[in-house]
Amino acid sequence: MYDPKSMDSNEFISHDEITETLEQAKTEAEDPARVKQILDKAAQYHGLTHREAAVLFNVTSPEILEDVFTLARKIKEHIYGRRIVMFAPLYLSDYCVNKCTYCGYNHDHCMTRRKLTQEELAEEVRILESLGHKRIVLETGEDPVNCPLEYVLESIKTIYSLKFDNGAIRRVNINIAATTVEDYRKLKEAEIGTYTLFQETYHKPTYLKVHPAGPKHNYEWHTEAHGRAMQGGINDVGLGVLYGLYDWRYETVGMLMAAEHLEAAFGVGPHTLSVPRIRTAEGVKAQNFPYLVSDDDFKKVVAVLRLAVPYTGMILSTREPKGYREEIIALGISQVSAGSCTGVGGYASTKKLGFEEHTPQFEPQDHRSPTEMLKDLIGDGYIPSYCTACYREGRTGDRFMRLAKTGQIGNVCQANAILTLQEYIEDYADDELRDMGSQAIARELTAIPNEKVREKAEQYLERIRNGERDLRF
Ligand code: SF4
Ligand code: SF4
Repeated sequence: MYDPKSMDSNEFISHDEITETLEQAKTEAEDPARVKQILDKAAQYHGLTHREAAVLFNVTSPEILEDVFTLARKIKEHIYGRRIVMFAPLYLSDYCVNKCTYCGYNHDHCMTRRKLTQEELAEEVRILESLGHKRIVLETGEDPVNCPLEYVLESIKTIYSLKFDNGAIRRVNINIAATTVEDYRKLKEAEIGTYTLFQETYHKPTYLKVHPAGPKHNYEWHTEAHGRAMQGGINDVGLGVLYGLYDWRYETVGMLMAAEHLEAAFGVGPHTLSVPRIRTAEGVKAQNFPYLVSDDDFKKVVAVLRLAVPYTGMILSTREPKGYREEIIALGISQVSAGSCTGVGGYASTKKLGFEEHTPQFEPQDHRSPTEMLKDLIGDGYIPSYCTACYREGRTGDRFMRLAKTGQIGNVCQANAILTLQEYIEDYADDELRDMGSQAIARELTAIPNEKVREKAEQYLERIRNGERDLRF
């Protein structure tokens, strides 16, 4: 039985509802009037139910598929403008008691494990800040002994305490294992941004198979964790699927049902969705997984998600290669990582600062530096944004969603993207990026629809050029 309000994951992620949805969707997709009705609804920016979204998975006509992609691009442009938010992962610890079959940090893999000391963490943060990053995601494996919550809390405190010539890390998002309401409350008190927990797969038999041992084996504990995070006061939570573990249609319907559950039970949906695809890692061969998603199907996933949850951020990591990554960004992605190192101490070790060689959790496919990434994004007509304003201004949870749904957020997003790009130009850019960025800022400034915001943005830009930092809307 499907009951989005239920707190029982076997009900709000009802297997029967997913299979029935996928069956019915095949029939409905054969009716052009029904497909048109769904596209017309999505064009109103009101989103789609999981049942409606599933119909679009079955679209095979190249013309209708192109309509889906065009609409996804239009929705993205309408809600997010041309800004793309930048972030970087920071791996704290690769100790892990779980045995996830797709992960380089699987407990059974023979590797030297480590976690950063607070001094090493400070060095990693210094390098990330010198690359221009203001928003990071902390990543850890699950190990209550070697990586207890107290260590994570201490690390957050260290990061927020660090100040450099050009500023500081302004937002620390967290990607750690499912935990208790009490622990989530402590993370909230530590002023984290978004708490993200990847479901990996919503298909329970597959979930149990790919998580054969360790606390992560408990499907219910894991699947209900976002609800506990919200009960602990964290109102920006992120969902994610690891595409390739099971059928992508099933996973996408499951993720939409999880989003509907959060909306029904807590009045606010997920802040972000992440859409990684399985990659090769230490002891893991991606080609051994039977449900790998083709590039064409993956484009469909991203576009349909954009239509279904227009106000939810969508995150793309460096798992996708340059070229294809651009195609996907255009279809609905709002946040990307750049210059990522996917291992503990990876930034310092890459710079040969005396750290030991690190074992990456997975092999990134996009090796561009942040500067190269910024140039490519600007060249494609986007404004890279280092904005962290909402979380710092208290615009989180339902307050954020209200602004997003009325379209008011677009005004501040655009202005904040321009301001943070100006900061980047002043503090980190080479001559080529400085020229490209200045032209983009001049162009995008005129595109701010609200005159008062535009005028204030002009004043802020002048103040940033004169040395002030962290001005925001
Ligand atoms: Fe551990 Fe996470 Fe890797 Fe699973 S996915 S083995 S929990 S680090
Ligand atoms: Fe994100 Fe808010 Fe900044 Fe827009 S204004 S980029 S929603 S933090």
